Amino acid sequence: MRFYNTLTRRLEEFREIEKGNVGLYTCGPTVYDYPHIGNYRSYVFEDLVKRVFLHSGYRVRHVMNITDIDDKTIRKANELGMPLAEVTQKYIDAFHADLRALNVLPADVYPRATEHIPEMLKLIAVLLEKGFAYVRDGSVYFSIERFKEYGRLANLDRASLKAGASAAVDADEYEKEAVQDFVLWKGRKPGEPSWPAPFGEGRPGWHIECSAMSMKYLGPHFDIHMGGVDNIFPHHENEIAQSEAANGQAFVNYWLHCQHLVIDNKKMSKSLGNFYTLGDLLGRGCDPMAVRYLLLSTHYRKLLNFTLEGLEMAGQALARVKNFVFSLKNVEAEGEADPELAAVIRASLAAFSASLADDFNVSGALGVMFDLIHEVNARLNALTRADAAAVLAWVERLNAVLGVLGEADAGPLEAEIEARIALRQQARLEKNFARADEIRAELKKQGIVLIDTPGGVKWKKE
Ligand code: AMP
Ligand code: ZN
Repeated sequence: MRFYNTLTRRLEEFREIEKGNVGLYTCGPTVYDYPHIGNYRSYVFEDLVKRVFLHSGYRVRHVMNITDIDDKTIRKANELGMPLAEVTQKYIDAFHADLRALNVLPADVYPRATEHIPEMLKLIAVLLEKGFAYVRDGSVYFSIERFKEYGRLANLDRASLKAGASAAVDADEYEKEAVQDFVLWKGRKPGEPSWPAPFGEGRPGWHIECSAMSMKYLGPHFDIHMGGVDNIFPHHENEIAQSEAANGQAFVNYWLHCQHLVIDNKKMSKSLGNFYTLGDLLGRGCDPMAVRYLLLSTHYRKLLNFTLEGLEMAGQALARVKNFVFSLKNVEAEGEADPELAAVIRASLAAFSASLADDFNVSGALGVMFDLIHEVNARLNALTRADAAAVLAWVERLNAVLGVLGEADAGPLEAEIEARIALRQQARLEKNFARADEIRAELKKQGIVLIDTPGGVKWKKE
């Protein structure tokens, strides 16, 4: 398996630290609002990476932090006049509900920053003791001049760094042009939550949160750290500095970053206001699996330009797969399994895995999938039940990685159709004929035709 390591700026063969195990840390949400689907591009890609490792036989220990204290969460709580914990809990719940809807496998641990203050204090104390940090006006800063490797991940030109104790930045987020000593502990300010500390009451900076929590759950040195490309600087650069300075050893072997989701060539973000939440899309009747498909289907190192038309096309691609599964389930002919088909399936599975093992080439993998669908569709009439079962097992293997058909098996399609028919009956009872027709049309798009009979509604495949 090989992929692009941001740290070395080249494709690298993956070698795990501990045989058969992958330690994976993914930067989680800052819970001050509902995430937008740009955020979910990163989380869904991380889920793909994790599933590819699982599919290849690795055990994965996955840690995703929850940033429940930082500049943005505090600002939001103050705006609403609500306790911080109440505001963050609301968005944590919403986040987990979205992950379930998008069929993202849960992490092993979701550590919260506010529950790891002692770990952060300990880490800051080590950095002070080793001379990598200093106290000024009740806050603690990391001295980037003291850490010779600073700038390696973000590829900064060290000679031009404006280092030194005279320039220090208090904000959690800043641009590359403003490279400075960054804050580890922020001295108490009125209206902000704070904790007692040997260097003065205050609260942690954002970057120290991830160093302390990744170290606690994955150890000082682990395999893979992920996030969106906007995390490279300053967040991940600063995580490396803090962790390596404190532990005196390499922090992470592979850094994997997902490119942005954009709208009209601008990064989708809360601050620009050009965003959709998952709730916005579901409210428009979109299928969350189509959203997942769309987010996955562009290679992670390319920009993904989001449009509603693109989402519609993703839904159509998905419907092709669902219809295929549906046809296979309807195969009834008895007889032996065709050994030639079995060989085609094996080759297809190998090609699918090989594509994903090559820098997560998802377009290649989807191409392999649709090639086989095409080929099997062409000989559908000649299939036996045993053949169909073999192809369905292949779909299940692919879906264990892609996760676009919902749960690991190909999904109870019949039940789904029956449920939609019941919804249509309900709409008709309420004399909402427009909605009833809409449901009929939606089913038609998936190749399902409804027949109203005196004995109730029957359906058949077109
Ligand atoms: P935040 O809650 O802002 O810390 O972001 C959570 C995750 O979403 C991080 O990994 C970000 O890098 C990622 N992210 C934010 N905006 C986008 C975007 N437009 N496209 C892809 N990933 C994003
Ligand atoms: Zn982080």
